[in-house]
Amino acid sequence: MKTIGLLGGMSWESTSVYYQTLNRMARERLGGLHSAKCLLWSFDFAEIEAAQAAGDWGKATDMMVAAARNLERGGAECLVICTNTMHKMAQEVEDAVGIRLIHIADSTAPAIKDAGCKAPLLLATCYTMEQDFYKGHLRDRHGIEARIPDADDRAEIHRIIYEELCRGEIWADSKETFLEVVRKETAKGADGVIFGCTEIGLLVKAEDFEVPSFDTTVLHAQAALDCALDS
Ligand code: GLU
Repeated sequence: MKTIGLLGGMSWESTSVYYQTLNRMARERLGGLHSAKCLLWSFDFAEIEAAQAAGDWGKATDMMVAAARNLERGGAECLVICTNTMHKMAQEVEDAVGIRLIHIADSTAPAIKDAGCKAPLLLATCYTMEQDFYKGHLRDRHGIEARIPDADDRAEIHRIIYEELCRGEIWADSKETFLEVVRKETAKGADGVIFGCTEIGLLVKAEDFEVPSFDTTVLHAQAALDCALDS
């Protein structure tokens, strides 16, 4: 089994889901006392968020690259960035190390295609919904045209992610907001929902929706374990 390097703490609320999912799946697949070999680099998310909010993506990239190199030096044999947003600098991180980066969108795209979705709705931070690094990756590498909610809904989703989910606060009103956005967008033709932020699965579940949903955290952890087990 390969050792998985996790760039986490963005936020730790979702990194703990990665850790649990990897270990649970390793036990399911290998049985007995097996668990996933991991190295975790866990950022102080306040430092990352400050760089994001200031638009200082150069500083954020430097922090990510330094951490990735540390994981590689520590023995990681593949790399997982445990957040969709910080895939903005996925290429720079991948170029800085000699180990494989398992991209979160590459881990999610096959499930979208298998479900036959042609117009999935992307729920994520404003950075991920509005910039092209994620939607462009889905479009150019996988032929998937993701839709995004209206501006007001995007702002509210972004607020809920940073002010609630990343702080471990799960509120019924916010869940209703997500459900309402999905109802509105499916009425306009969206045929699936991408949980394009690794904390969204803490608030809503597949059974909350009539259309298929894709939890990037779980799909990414699955792909990482596949890589670690060479399957
Ligand atoms: N975990 C979130 C994501 O998947 C947001 C936190 C971050 O900005 O990294 O995008």
